[in-house]
Amino acid sequence: MKKVLLHICCGVCAGSVVQRLRDDGFEVTGYFYNPNIYPQEEYKQRLEVVRQASQLLGFTLVEGLYEPSAWQKCIQGLEAEPEGGKRCLACFRVRLQKTAEKTKELGIEHMASTLSVSPHKNVQEINKIGSEICAGFLPYDFKKQDGFKKTMDFAKEHNFYRQHYCGCEKSRIEAELRDANKSRIGTK
Ligand code: SF4
Repeated sequence: MKKVLLHICCGVCAGSVVQRLRDDGFEVTGYFYNPNIYPQEEYKQRLEVVRQASQLLGFTLVEGLYEPSAWQKCIQGLEAEPEGGKRCLACFRVRLQKTAEKTKELGIEHMASTLSVSPHKNVQEINKIGSEICAGFLPYDFKKQDGFKKTMDFAKEHNFYRQHYCGCEKSRIEAELRDANKSRIGTK
């Protein structure tokens, strides 16, 4: 059977992606490597949801290290970039690079990432970076075939914790500002 190491950004996103890869004949091992997540309590919470997803879906989960200072180094100078800009490209690269290293270490032929299930992320950039890093990268667009809807349904069904920001400190601040603006408009 073909094997794939799946980089998982959060348990919510794992639902439909694991199933899609299985439908396509892959044996899936999950890999949680997301040093971008801030703060550590949030990291632990998201990891816990991935553990739940691995139990519910029955896949092996490999847990990477939480190394936020290594991540900070890789995005140095890009801190002020808006969400979707160069900081995010560097962030994708760090996580996919580590996944490629783990793929090789485990002797697995293919790698993929749940990142493309999000409608907020640039799938072309994710797939370009993944293909540059690893010859066995599978350039899926997991939001297609109702992938995003299915993954949300899975999260709702199992009452998963769902984060309201992408992951890093800057994205948290931006989300809080958006929420504050929304409630200000709502009270007018
Ligand atoms: S917004 Fe998301 S993808 Fe972009 S740098 Fe922050 S955590 Fe990474």
